Amino acid sequence: MKKRCGACDSQKIIENLAITDRIDALNSFELSIPIQRKPDALFFKDKRNHPLRASVCGNCGKVELSIENPARFYEDFLESKNR
Ligand SMILES: [Zn+2]
Repeated sequence: MKKRCGACDSQKIIENLAITDRIDALNSFELSIPIQRKPDALFFKDKRNHPLRASVCGNCGKVELSIENPARFYEDFLESKNR
């Protein structure tokens, strides 16, 4: 079943797009949500960045954001709270 837009019900959805921000003409970086997995560790604090992905409706322009790997994101989130 094809995905539909939550705003206009169109099926013109472009999925799984990377979102980048430009630093200057030559450099850009991908937007992500960082999670500090071992906040109390003295060394090896182990921060992991979870890339954001966008789905864009080709009819009305609505943009939806999601995390590339939600299962791993949730695991890291639980680890960040584990003290
Ligand atoms: Zn739409």
